[in-house]
Amino acid sequence: MASQIQNEAELNADKVGHSIRRWLKDWSRKWNEPSLAQQTKVEFSNRMKVSLGRAYPRRMLIRLNKSLEPRRNLKLLREVLCHEAAHLTVHRQHGCSAKPHGEEWRQLIRLAGYNPRRTYRVERIGEFTQEPTILFLHSCLNCGARRLAKKPMRDWRCVTCTEAGLEGKLQITTQPSREGLGEFPRSYQGAHSPRS
Ligand SMILES: [Zn+2]
Ligand SMILES: [Zn+2]
Repeated sequence: MASQIQNEAELNADKVGHSIRRWLKDWSRKWNEPSLAQQTKVEFSNRMKVSLGRAYPRRMLIRLNKSLEPRRNLKLLREVLCHEAAHLTVHRQHGCSAKPHGEEWRQLIRLAGYNPRRTYRVERIGEFTQEPTILFLHSCLNCGARRLAKKPMRDWRCVTCTEAGLEGKLQITTQPSREGLGEFPRSYQGAHSPRS
C-alpha cells in the first residue's frame, strides 16, 4: 500500500469533510429528506468576510466561512452547517412559501438538537477570527438574519425584511474578540446544549 503524505491542512480538510458528510446524513434522516445528504455541496470560502454561512437552495449549495474550517471550530461549524442545511430542506419541502427562519425552519433545528436561535453572539464569532479584532454584529430583530462588519454600518437594513415591506432595522452589538481563541467560551457551550 502506498503511503500517503499529507500536510496538516489537507489532513484537517479530510477530517472536516468526513464530519460534514456524517452530519448531513444524520439530519437527512431526522428531517426525512434523503436528497439532502445525496445532493448538498459544501464549499469553504475565503471571500466571506461578514457571514458565517450561506445557503443556495436552487444549487443545493452551502458556502461556509473559511475560518470555520480549523478543527477547533468544529462545534460552531456544525451549528452553522445545520442552520444552512435547514434552509435547503425548508426550500425543498415548502418552496418559497416558508419564511427563512419561520416555524418550518425552527422545527428542523429542534429536531437536530439545537435551539432555533438565529443570531450568533460576537464573543463566539471572535472565536474563529485569526487576529484579535473588534467585530460588529448586525442582527435583524425580526427575522434573525445576521452579518458581521469591521465597523458599525448604521445604514444597513435587513434585505429579507425590507423586501417584505418591513423596516429591516438591525441591532448592532460589539465585543473585542481578544479572549478565548482556541477554545469555546462557556456562554457558547451553554447555549449550544441540545434540548431535552
Ligand atoms: Zn430581517
Ligand atoms: Zn438563516
